Amino acid sequence: MPFSFHLEHRDGGTAARAGRITTAHGEVLTPAFMPVGTVGSVKTLAPDDLVEAGCDVLLGNTYHLSLRPGVETVAALGGLHRFMGWSGSILTDSGGFQVMSLTEFNKVTEDGVEFRSHLDGSKHFLTPEKAMRIQDGLGTDIAMSFDQLVELPAPAETVRDAVDRTLRWARRGLEERERLRGEGRGTMALFGINQGGTDAAERARCFAELGGMPFDGFALGGLWVGEGRRLGLEMVERDCAAFPEDRPRYLMGVGHPVDVLEAVARGVDMMDCVLPTRNARRGTVFVSTGRLVIRNAAYARDARPLDPECGCPTCRGFSRAYLRHLFVSNELLGMRLASVHAVHQILSLVRRARAAIAAGTFAAFRSEFLDRFHSNETLVRAAS
Ligand SMILES: [Zn+2]
Repeated sequence: MPFSFHLEHRDGGTAARAGRITTAHGEVLTPAFMPVGTVGSVKTLAPDDLVEAGCDVLLGNTYHLSLRPGVETVAALGGLHRFMGWSGSILTDSGGFQVMSLTEFNKVTEDGVEFRSHLDGSKHFLTPEKAMRIQDGLGTDIAMSFDQLVELPAPAETVRDAVDRTLRWARRGLEERERLRGEGRGTMALFGINQGGTDAAERARCFAELGGMPFDGFALGGLWVGEGRRLGLEMVERDCAAFPEDRPRYLMGVGHPVDVLEAVARGVDMMDCVLPTRNARRGTVFVSTGRLVIRNAAYARDARPLDPECGCPTCRGFSRAYLRHLFVSNELLGMRLASVHAVHQILSLVRRARAAIAAGTFAAFRSEFLDRFHSNETLVRAAS
């Protein structure tokens, strides 16, 4: 199978690590951040923009793509890579998160989740087996196990039942991949998802079983859903300590620079989030000194780039004043230029973290980045 993970460096002072994932579509250097291409596009960006930013892996959404244009259409056009013109690696989610969070009607049974499409209200039924077949049909490099998400806070019994069902569904997904392989398909890697919310004992109980299953990697699920950074990071630390060294660890839904760096320090290898690009389209970007609100009147005649320390095409070519003008005038180019910077900023952060881990200087890198990042945040906010 064309998937492998090699751990290359371990930081001496923290649990941070640097590695290399190989898929049929190339290498993914870890720690890695995956921009989110929800419906087969990272909004406003073309594949070349992502390559230029150093992106080697994208996330695609099974739920969205299976409803529109549909997996048969994507498969008929050569799979998701060819359909969207992306030659790097792709990880797809299982659709579980979206069917629980985006649909107005959804019903969980032992067999799967029944839901109505947010597009036209049509009825669908997603099961662990279907989630595998759809991801295989899209031609993903890394598929995710179909899990049951619980909205927190929830009674302990609800969390326990969801963990048990997630484990049964995890097994069914693995079995379906075996069936696909029997049909000459199913070459994708498959990651299991650890659940249990913020209940440390439930997460440990979940992984005691999940960890024994032949997954190619493990994800930390059910976190960054409103529990707060301190508790979220505590769960990350516990999960990573339990996860095996030789397989990649993926923290789902994390994209704030501070969270990304703190998760890396605790042993996370991969992350994804719509936050950097969604914020950018709304006119807020992260820069090395914190958060910058582009529409801020203080930038009306500011000739400096968004971030003087950033080497992205937006920061090389355009001023804050121009970007502010574009946003105030509702020009689409504003969203695009801000998105270019946002993707560069977060990918540059994980790339520099990786270099620091390899050089044995991660602790210093982390504290310098955080000091600098917090230096101006309140100032920018105060001025807006
Ligand atoms: Zn930039």
